Amino acid sequence: MKKIAIAGAGAMGGRIGTQIQEAGYDVTLLDYWQAHVEKIKREGIEIQTETDTYHLDIKAQFPEEVNEQFDLIIILTKAMKSREMIKVLNERGAIGEDTAILTMMNGLGHDETFAEVVPKSQIFLAVTMWTAGMRGPGQLLLEGDGTIDLQRADGLDDERTRAINQIFNDAKLNSRISDDVFQSVWSKATLNSVLNPLCTILDKRIGEFAKYEQAREMITPIINEIIAVAEARGVKLDFDALVAKVEGSYPDELQGLHYPSMHQDLHSGRYTEIDYLNGKITQYGKELGISTPTNELLTHMIHQLEMQYVTQES
Ligand code: NAD
Repeated sequence: MKKIAIAGAGAMGGRIGTQIQEAGYDVTLLDYWQAHVEKIKREGIEIQTETDTYHLDIKAQFPEEVNEQFDLIIILTKAMKSREMIKVLNERGAIGEDTAILTMMNGLGHDETFAEVVPKSQIFLAVTMWTAGMRGPGQLLLEGDGTIDLQRADGLDDERTRAINQIFNDAKLNSRISDDVFQSVWSKATLNSVLNPLCTILDKRIGEFAKYEQAREMITPIINEIIAVAEARGVKLDFDALVAKVEGSYPDELQGLHYPSMHQDLHSGRYTEIDYLNGKITQYGKELGISTPTNELLTHMIHQLEMQYVTQES
């Protein structure tokens, strides 16, 4: 895989793209944020790690400027922007018959969105435990460690899966090929569907939420509804494992001192990914005749907050 594009090159796209380029691959960052793209074109991207701050020259373009085909396109917009991104890239001729389209966005249903444009055999899903932040346009903050689990979305073996895994490992991204990526996707979506809306609605850090003695009672119905919907869609989730995953993030030295990303998005005046978390559970539940009142209420509450806080489109 010679030509790699990162479509949606904010915090996470920036991390993945710069690490892959530093491993010697040909990477182009594609993004709509004008100040960000122009700064990278002009000065390269600034990377701050725990130990160092440095500049990296890397190609950056607006999606409408693309006039080449890529072997691998990694989609890392926010979930609600991915449909528009893949459509534009398809119109620009960026996607060929063998192009692998991979995403490690949080949330559910991305394979269905991409399947509107490309066959399932070209879609790859990944789950990452890496994190990343932005200090401003053209400025990445990359701290901590992580992992990536990936698989072709239809579960079939593919030479490209091994090639992508190799690229990620060359880039020191601790990647492995999963034999059940949907299990990982749904587990991470459960974690996000529990803590993102609750901490956002309550305006609490994760550790502050965890101090409430009956926190377990609050998270239980959300998780049970997700398990029922997942099971009806052929994904087996375990209640105790999910509770352990959520509660495992509570300590201060893990996620306790942080507000979840949904809280950060809202307080930066941006839309949240709620429709791909609790909202997607609600949508699937309705399609399947499974009642999901807790997830539906949380979705409505976040949309109410978006009415109050959102000031920008992206
Ligand atoms: P991000 O907000 O940093 O970037 C997403 C998009 O928004 C990019 O196109 C970016 O250019 C644009 N953007 C960011 N700030 C902007 C601003 N001020 N003005 C205009 N445009 C702006 O989002 P992200 O954290 O990279 O998340 C991308 C996907 O990866 C999401 O699905 C997220 O849930 C997932 N993810 C993120 C992390 C993380 O630690 N950041 C970890 C795991 C998964």
